[in-house]
Amino acid sequence: MALTGLDIFKLLPRKNCNECGVPTCLAFAMALASGKASLEACPYVSEEAKEALGSAAAPPIRLVKIGAPGVDHEVELGDENVLFRHDKTFYHPAGVAVEVGDDLDAGALAARLAKIAELVFERVGQRYTVDLVAVRNVTGDPAKFAAAAKAVAEKTKLALMLVAEKPEALKAALDVVADRKPILAWGTPATADAVVALAKEKGCAVVLRGAGLDETANLVERIAKTGFKDIILDSGARETGKVLADLTQVRRLAIKKKFRPFGFPIAAFCAEKDPLAEMTQASVYMAKYASLIVIKAVERPQVLTLLTWRQNIYTDPQKPIQVEAKLNRIGEAGPKSPLYVTTNFSLTYYTVEGEVAASKVPSYILAINTEGTSVLTSYAAGKFTADAIADALKKFEVEKLVPSKEIVIPGYVAVLSGKLADVSGWKVIVGPREAAGIPAFAKERYGRSS
Ligand code: SF4
Repeated sequence: MALTGLDIFKLLPRKNCNECGVPTCLAFAMALASGKASLEACPYVSEEAKEALGSAAAPPIRLVKIGAPGVDHEVELGDENVLFRHDKTFYHPAGVAVEVGDDLDAGALAARLAKIAELVFERVGQRYTVDLVAVRNVTGDPAKFAAAAKAVAEKTKLALMLVAEKPEALKAALDVVADRKPILAWGTPATADAVVALAKEKGCAVVLRGAGLDETANLVERIAKTGFKDIILDSGARETGKVLADLTQVRRLAIKKKFRPFGFPIAAFCAEKDPLAEMTQASVYMAKYASLIVIKAVERPQVLTLLTWRQNIYTDPQKPIQVEAKLNRIGEAGPKSPLYVTTNFSLTYYTVEGEVAASKVPSYILAINTEGTSVLTSYAAGKFTADAIADALKKFEVEKLVPSKEIVIPGYVAVLSGKLADVSGWKVIVGPREAAGIPAFAKERYGRSS
C-alpha cells in the first residue's frame, strides 16, 4: 500500500534545512508522496529510511527503455509524475509504432518500410518521426514471422516490436533480431511465463495483456514479483471509449494512489480500419494517457497530424519552444535585402520565416530573445522593447549586412517605432500586423532581388 505523506515524514531526518528545495521536511514528504519530488533531493536520508521508503521513493510510473544501445532510434516510455501536463510537465512522449504484417510479400514489405522511412517531419525547428516498427504475426506461422522480423530489422533503424499470440512465434523472431532488443507483445496469463523467460534472457520489455484491468493488474503483480520489471501494460480493450477509460484509470491509480501494478507504461493498439478514424482514435490515446501507440497508417498527412498533436502535448508548458536569438539569413539575402525583427518564440519565428520565404524576397530576420514568448506577450512583459532590439542590432553587427539601416517591425508593436529609431539610429518601418501580410508587403516595398 502507498505510504502517506505523514508516514514518509516520520522517516525523514526532520532537519528542516531546505536543502531539498522545499522549506520543511513535512513539505518534502508531501511532495514525495504525490510523486512531485525524488528522495535523492534530501542528502540526509539514512539507508534504513531509503529501504523503508522503497516504493514511495520510486517514480509512480516506471521508465522502460526500448532498443539496443547503438541502434539509431532508442525509445523511453513512462516515467510520468502528473495527470495533467500543466501540473508540471510530461517527460516522455508516447512512442508511435507502425505495424507491418508478416503476410506481406517481399515487395509489399519493402514498399511499406519505405513509406515508414519517409515519416520524418520538421516543425518549428524540431525533427520528429515515428519510433518503432511493430512486426505482427498475421500468418500464425513462426517461420514466416521470423523471416519478416529479419527483413524489417535489416531495413530500418527504428526500434522494433514483435507482436504475436504464440510464444513459439515470438521465440523464432526474437532469435533473429535479439540484438535489437525488441518489445515482445504479448504475454497473457497463459503465456506470460514463457514470454518473460525469453525477455529476461535477451534483455527485452514485454507487453502484458489481461482481459480487462483486474486481470492485467493480477498478471503484472505476479510477474513483477519474479523481479521482472520491464513491463508495458495492455488492458486488452480495443474499442476507443473502453481504451480511454482504461488508460485514464491506470494513470490515475498509478499517480494518485501509487498502485504499483499500474506503475508501468501502457500500450494502446488502434483497431479502426479507416485511416481517418484510426488517427482520431490514436489522437485520443495520445491525449490520455498511452505511453505507446500502435497504428497501421503510413501516409504522411495522417501521421503528421498525430505527431503534431504529440509535439503539442509533450511540450513543457513552463518552457516555450524557442529558437536561437540571432540574425537569420533567408535565401540569398544581400546588402539591399529587407530586415525583419520578431521574437524567438518558435511558433512566431517560423510563421514569420515561412511568410518571408513565401514572399520570394531574400531577407534577414532578427530574432530577439524574449524567452520564447510571442510579439504581444513579450511586448506586454517588457521583453520585446526598443532597447532590446537596438542591443541585438549592435550585438549581431547587423549594420554591416544591411547598410540601408532599415528595419521592419511587426505592426502590432508600431508603438515601438519612435523610441527604436531614437535609440538605434535605424529607420523603422512598421510592417503588417499578421505574418500573413508579409508577402504582399514585401512585394510592394521590396519587390526586387537583393
Ligand atoms: S533536505 Fe532533508 S532534512 Fe533538509 S528539509 Fe529537505 S527533507 Fe528535511
